Amino acid sequence: MSELNLILLGPPGAGKGTQADRLRDDFAMPHISTGDILRAQVAEGTELGQEAKRYMDAGDLVPDEVIVGMITDRVAEGDARDGFLLDGFPRNQKQAEALSEALNGLERHLTAALLIEVPDDEVVRRLAGRRVCVKNPGHIYHVDFDPPKHEDVCDQDGSRLIQRDDDREETIRHRLEVYHTQTEPLIDYYDGKGLLRRLDGRRGPDEVHAHVRATVATLRLEENL
Ligand code: ADP
Ligand code: ADP
Repeated sequence: MSELNLILLGPPGAGKGTQADRLRDDFAMPHISTGDILRAQVAEGTELGQEAKRYMDAGDLVPDEVIVGMITDRVAEGDARDGFLLDGFPRNQKQAEALSEALNGLERHLTAALLIEVPDDEVVRRLAGRRVCVKNPGHIYHVDFDPPKHEDVCDQDGSRLIQRDDDREETIRHRLEVYHTQTEPLIDYYDGKGLLRRLDGRRGPDEVHAHVRATVATLRLEENL
């Protein structure tokens, strides 16, 4: 069967991580979240983590040199051989080109870029109320829109829920600016290559999930034709 090499695009807070977590039960492919990988490095206190933390706390992108090699190596690993769902990468033109070159070198290609579209004011509401599991950052909640059954406790593994350091109002605004200037141009880039699939992210998590799942299922059929 053909592989599905997918990226999730969209502003911070669009629901990329939420959808990646839900897709896990639908399609067997590794979810590669650059934010989660970087936060794990910060938590471990590695040299890379220490360098990345300054940028992350400020809401800026970490330098390409820090992230590009890490992700191009990751997509070449065994569990991603049959496809991957990349979340948070690429974030600028240089990263997009590096990904494309790395895939070419493996005689592979990107299947599609799934764009989750959400307006800025909704992003602010979502990020301000976001809570994540301290043990597994893929378990994502919102105090109003997707609350856990028990306050501040993860439904899936009973761990404590925390607020991310960069989910503060002033950092959120800056991350949105960074998104609009550096990442948004990738929409035209992928559209020009015929790879863009647009999804309305304003709907509830279940509705967005149904749409993403149907889109991925169609892509799989097309890849197998
Ligand atoms: P969100 O899910 O809210 O969009 P992420 O978890 O993807 O945020 O990213 C958090 C931070 O990690 C970013 O603000 C940035 O500092 C850093 N980061 C994540 N991915 C990348 C990337 N591909 N290039 C540069 N920095 C990145
Ligand atoms: P991203 O990975 O794009 O930064 P997340 O998946 O972490 O976004 O979601 C950001 C916040 O918005 C979380 O608190 C999440 O629970 C909430 N959220 C995600 N999808 C939706 C949705 N469709 N409607 C309302 N809230 C959502």
